[in-house]
Amino acid sequence: MSFVSHVECTVCGARHDAKRLLTVCERCGQMLAVRYDLERVRAQVTKDALRGRPPGMYRFRELTPLDEDETPVTLGEGGTPLLPLPRLAAHLGLRHLWGKDEGQNPTGSFKARGLGMAITRARTLGARGFVIPSAGNAGGAAAAYAARCGLPCVVIVPRDTPAAAVAEAALAGAHVFTLEGSIATAGKVVARVAPALGWFDLSTLKEPYRLEGKKTMGLELAEQLDWTMPDVLLYPTGGGTGLIGIPKGYQELLAMGWVAGALPRIVAVQAEGCAPVVKALADKAETTTAWEDPTTHAAGLRVPSPFAGRQMLRILRDTGGGAIAVGERAIEEGQRLLARVEGVWTSPEGGALVAALLEMKARGEVTADARVVLMLTGAGIKYDPPGLPAPVDLEGSDEAIVARIRRAV
Ligand SMILES: *Cc1c(COP(=O)(O)O)cnc(C)c1O
Repeated sequence: MSFVSHVECTVCGARHDAKRLLTVCERCGQMLAVRYDLERVRAQVTKDALRGRPPGMYRFRELTPLDEDETPVTLGEGGTPLLPLPRLAAHLGLRHLWGKDEGQNPTGSFKARGLGMAITRARTLGARGFVIPSAGNAGGAAAAYAARCGLPCVVIVPRDTPAAAVAEAALAGAHVFTLEGSIATAGKVVARVAPALGWFDLSTLKEPYRLEGKKTMGLELAEQLDWTMPDVLLYPTGGGTGLIGIPKGYQELLAMGWVAGALPRIVAVQAEGCAPVVKALADKAETTTAWEDPTTHAAGLRVPSPFAGRQMLRILRDTGGGAIAVGERAIEEGQRLLARVEGVWTSPEGGALVAALLEMKARGEVTADARVVLMLTGAGIKYDPPGLPAPVDLEGSDEAIVARIRRAV
């Protein structure tokens, strides 16, 4: 038995049986979320008991949908460091800044958490294969976890997806297809192919299990900040699993009395070339509308019509957060700055957060003493590196080479 009470529609509230393999709400077609008997969880675990457990996503087992005896399909996801970023903080005029380095996950991104959890659960509940539309990292992670449990996987990505993510999926034995368009185009194909194959559709937030994996970022953050919440949390936003998952984790801990106070102001960071959430928030809209011709090198942000737009907007408003779009140049500069001053090569999505924080600080939207967390969602090494001058080529005599290096440093 797990601690799950039921699965609930986030819009109409309809209750669904958690023992069945679920996708979207059977009544209204909207996003589902797993609900727990938090009283029972609180009676079962203590913060002290947690200390004796190994790091990783299943450290918070009672707050996952796994059955008591269920063995997770795992590659060691979760347990990523919350790195203090004192040199970047000084550069920005801040005093308390951290980066959650999700690039240290298996497959180099936080997608490992969601897909590890979803594939674990879906396999137990009878899935015989998986189909996923992706901008890159989700496809790579899905392929890896499918390989890990010996089930087949179809990955459909846009043609311009970063090569490492495509290779990662293909190496793991997935059937990889590319097409003209974005993840939205891929999603339309997946919606037809998954039922035709009888395989499970892993599309972002069109099933309730990936969210439970992403939620563990919030649980870890709470523990790593000694059971407190930061004041501001910046999240690079595509489909929004973490944007919705992190506050879900915090809410559960609040209900258990493990943390207290207000949720952090959650800030959605997007690229200027694809900013449906930024636009919808500025327009005070109920949900997002499809972004025409989405373009950005931050592949994870190239999501023109997120399924859970309304749920994201609600969180941004309820937490007094915001949404900000940054340009491609600023994203690259953000990557270079973080690498140069802290040694962290984050993905373009992480670079976007650095750019956004610079802008928010300049506008007075974060104060110097705010406690700020950047969700550094992926490893930079999976993408083309940001532009850099070519290294100086050494030739000539030993003396000439030494002189050349002395001149350069
Ligand atoms: C997928 C992805 C994102 C966007 O995450 P969502 O939960 O879909 O909003 C951000 N960064 C990286 C590196 C990603 O792979």
